[in-house]
Amino acid sequence: MTQPLTVSPGKKIRLKDFDPGDTGKIKNKAQTRAELEKNLETLNELGYRLYAENRRALLLVLQGMDTAGKDGTIRHVMRGFNPQSCQITSFKQPSLEELDHDFLWRIGRAMPRRGNVGIFNRSHYEDVLVVRVHNLVPKQEWKTRYQRINFFEKNAVDGGTTLVKIFLHISKDEQRRRLQSRLDNKTKRWKFRKDDLAEREYWNDYQRAYEDALTLCNTAYAPWYIVPADKKWYRNLVISRLLCKILKQMNPRFPPAEKGLKGLKVK
Ligand code: ADP
Repeated sequence: MTQPLTVSPGKKIRLKDFDPGDTGKIKNKAQTRAELEKNLETLNELGYRLYAENRRALLLVLQGMDTAGKDGTIRHVMRGFNPQSCQITSFKQPSLEELDHDFLWRIGRAMPRRGNVGIFNRSHYEDVLVVRVHNLVPKQEWKTRYQRINFFEKNAVDGGTTLVKIFLHISKDEQRRRLQSRLDNKTKRWKFRKDDLAEREYWNDYQRAYEDALTLCNTAYAPWYIVPADKKWYRNLVISRLLCKILKQMNPRFPPAEKGLKGLKVK
């Protein structure tokens, strides 16, 4: 059985209830290729209509443990969108200037404009994840952020941006395999930092911080989707399906043509 991706708002999310290795009824990558390509074509078509309509925006938020596949998702699924109307923002450690502002300052500046698809590779959620795990700000401060994030997201939704928040759920074992493969494989070694091993030591703390972020910021207007991500091909398929579904629901339309065009001939 395919496990659900969402949980009702208000219900406690426990990650152990979600199998990161789930692949629905699909057995291998070959079985996903045709559907993935078809979905990417659909995304392209709907993204084009969203751009032409120029009224609303779509924001995809990608979060997950290190090696969960944020970059891979962008490479394999977001290629469906036209680069002209798509912006990717990767949120790293805040700069000195960013630290001089509230944590949502840099997020607000990166929100997609009308007609566009924005992709956040990491996001404002880092401010209740890494910041919490490493005590980068006092607890009294990060505790207030869940509600502030909800207000911020509500405001974005009311302003015409649909949010798709995806948690890429991998197992600790799969992370070990991926880190080891980065070490062993010459073409992947550039991705490896010694810090990755230190961060892995905090696995349980991160899982707890994720459970709180997923629970406290799982709202009807901006729900979290928990995507099984141990199998990259299934992850890509699930996300392509989800984006198709959401864009179809948004149903962007070409704007009406200017009046008086009927019968005009170009000389
Ligand atoms: P990635 O792992 O996303 O491919 P990097 O290796 O450059 O890219 O890592 C980005 C780092 O920035 C991560 O360790 C992440 O936790 C950190 N980071 C992102 N946002 C914040 C934040 N608000 N405060 C502190 N650290 C952050």
